[in-house]
Amino acid sequence: MPGYKISLFHWAILFASLLLFGSCGSKKKYAETNKIYSQKTRKTADSLKAALPSPIIPIKEEKDEETENKKKVPLSQEAKEAMLHREGLRKDLDWVGAIHFDSRKPNFVIIHHTAQNSVDQTIRTFTLPHTKVSAHYLIGREGEVFQMLNDYLRGWHAGKGKWGNITDMNSVSIGIELDNNGKEPFPDIQINALLTLLDTLKTNYDIPQANFLGHADIAPSRKNDPSVFFPWKKLYERGFGLWYNESYLLTPPKDFNALEALRLIGYDISDPKAAIRTFKRKFIVTDLSEELTLYDRTVIYNLYKRYL
Ligand SMILES: [Zn+2]
Repeated sequence: MPGYKISLFHWAILFASLLLFGSCGSKKKYAETNKIYSQKTRKTADSLKAALPSPIIPIKEEKDEETENKKKVPLSQEAKEAMLHREGLRKDLDWVGAIHFDSRKPNFVIIHHTAQNSVDQTIRTFTLPHTKVSAHYLIGREGEVFQMLNDYLRGWHAGKGKWGNITDMNSVSIGIELDNNGKEPFPDIQINALLTLLDTLKTNYDIPQANFLGHADIAPSRKNDPSVFFPWKKLYERGFGLWYNESYLLTPPKDFNALEALRLIGYDISDPKAAIRTFKRKFIVTDLSEELTLYDRTVIYNLYKRYL
């Protein structure tokens, strides 16, 4: 029947337009911040094209005569030249471009929980001008994955922290945020999406198994994410992060220094209690006291042997 055919055709058109409008709607929602992202990537690309890094402008502090407050004043040309000459901050260099290079690659992955209640809330946090935080990926409770930064860009997810002697974790890592308020289990569908993403990153950048860490690992006195609900053992079984052999635990020697072993694994032990707490949250889970039991020391010994 011609009438039936026409109405079916119209339904199809209507359905297609709804899909189109739907996707335009979501694109439109973030159009402003996507524009800022593009502008910033262009600026970053321009800085790569420059032969030399921007010169460091030395400044000195002076007392403001009216307010008595200290203020930063640029040095005079003469003082600047004297300082550059003396301290060698910037010499005149001859530039010859070598022709073999590519971009530096991420070598760590840092896993976080958002401590927020929805993906929308986190996207908003990462796109507001004043928050100064971001991550490369955000994974929702239903396993939906949002990429928010190119892997080669330096995200602002790690903050102040340390692993071994690396003090700028943002420069070497990819940050992944899991939508989770910190007090709830992580659904399987979300963890499976994470595992797929980790597989891709590990393959693309040849990231060592031991370099898949949690935010708390690199900032034990400031952070607790991801929480005790995070399935680190499952990750280890898939090749991400290290774990100990639970069914064959070697007894540590009498003079074994567990705290020093944590330091050798990578932990910042400047606040020993925080380091112990962080280790226990991840590997012991059921006892979060700040004292090390014989069992804790045994686990550390077995882990430490794997890191050697
Ligand atoms: Zn975090």
